[in-house]
Amino acid sequence: MRSFRTPGFPRGQPLVDQYPPETRTSRRRLRACHECDWLVALPPLRGGQKADCPRCGHTLATRHHQPAQRSMALAVSALIALMLAASFPFVSFSVGGIGNNIELSQTATTLIGFHQPLVAIAVIMTILVLPAVYLLGVIWLQFGLLRGEPLPSSRNIARSLSHLHPWMMADVFIIGALVSLIKIAGMAQIELGVSFWAFCAFAILLLSTTQSLDSDWMWFSLSGEPLAPEGARSGQTAAPQGLTGCPTCGLVNRLSPQGTSRCRRCDERLHARMPHSLQRTWALLAAAAVMYVPANLYPIMTTTSLGHSTPSTIIGGVVELIQMGSWPIAAVIFTASVIVPVGKLVALSWLCLVVKRSNELNAGTRTRLYRLTEFIGRWSMVDVFVVAILVALIRAGSLMSITPGPAALAFGGVVVLTMLAAMTFDPRLIWDTPPPRATRDPQGISE
Ligand SMILES: [Zn+2]
Ligand SMILES: [Zn+2]
Repeated sequence: MRSFRTPGFPRGQPLVDQYPPETRTSRRRLRACHECDWLVALPPLRGGQKADCPRCGHTLATRHHQPAQRSMALAVSALIALMLAASFPFVSFSVGGIGNNIELSQTATTLIGFHQPLVAIAVIMTILVLPAVYLLGVIWLQFGLLRGEPLPSSRNIARSLSHLHPWMMADVFIIGALVSLIKIAGMAQIELGVSFWAFCAFAILLLSTTQSLDSDWMWFSLSGEPLAPEGARSGQTAAPQGLTGCPTCGLVNRLSPQGTSRCRRCDERLHARMPHSLQRTWALLAAAAVMYVPANLYPIMTTTSLGHSTPSTIIGGVVELIQMGSWPIAAVIFTASVIVPVGKLVALSWLCLVVKRSNELNAGTRTRLYRLTEFIGRWSMVDVFVVAILVALIRAGSLMSITPGPAALAFGGVVVLTMLAAMTFDPRLIWDTPPPRATRDPQGISE
């Protein structure tokens, strides 16, 4: 994919608009970067091109070849793979001649039997329900666009898709399945069912579908492009001009004097900055930190073998894996359950702290750190999925059984709370703080 920087803020050059003032105030297709609030005029994009923010590098728009056909084809294939994955055995397991066969949905339903309904809901929503809703939404939307006449509720669906996106975790579930299978590989005979392979195909197709969605093109096809507000000047931040970019469809809107408004194109609520962003992020981080204590103190699961129960905590599980010699799996679990959540708590707290002070690190680096915390957060769910799969697979057998512990819920809570904390943090705040001294070095800002 060819990428080019939008004009107005070239790297390594002085901080001046290269365009004469008359074009700066032109009412071209304007976008305000979601991460740094820089107002940019989008260049015309052809298939295979994308436009990046010239200040922070965030992708403003991606244009695919034949976007509707592409998303439609991928979403239909993903939905077929999901249906196959839901209707055949996922994994079969046998020890000493006693076998057990599980289906995908049983990874969630078994948890209800062990009084873990919240964890069960989290599992079934993230691996089956939300992806299915998302794919149906994509198919509904693209079908209308291909017909040349959007189907009813298309705008509402298009708006919801971006909110569903982070909560679909099929790819994380596959890592969880692999970890659980390796964990019990030594004790039993394992066979991967049709559904396992169908689910792998589904996870890949789902990922391709989310990446194929060209929201800039989609919103243009649904509702056209209303003219940019009069007097909007690109090459500056949007907030001081009383403008803001819609987080859903990207359109630049004028805010009311109170700093709020609704998007003229998609009706999304708009704010100059997310309201109480820092306070909300702090509150969610504090809640996640509190939940992290029981998540580590209580057992995440209890293995009963021949009448002998062994509870294991998250760290205990890692130590056990090391003793078994499974270093790579121990590393995966340690990274997902300890390094990622703790790292996220520390990184977000630090970002919140330095927002109000000076730039101890330049804004570009802080934005990259924020993007990283937002990207890796969901991968912590691996351990919760491992518990769900093992519990379903090794149910109250006479030889061995695995039951979920209270830490599974606490740890799931940590993952959800840190994900919400990353979402409520407004990265534009990073760029709002002016540099302390007169060091407006363009390289320092654009790097
Ligand atoms: Zn930017
Ligand atoms: Zn909008």
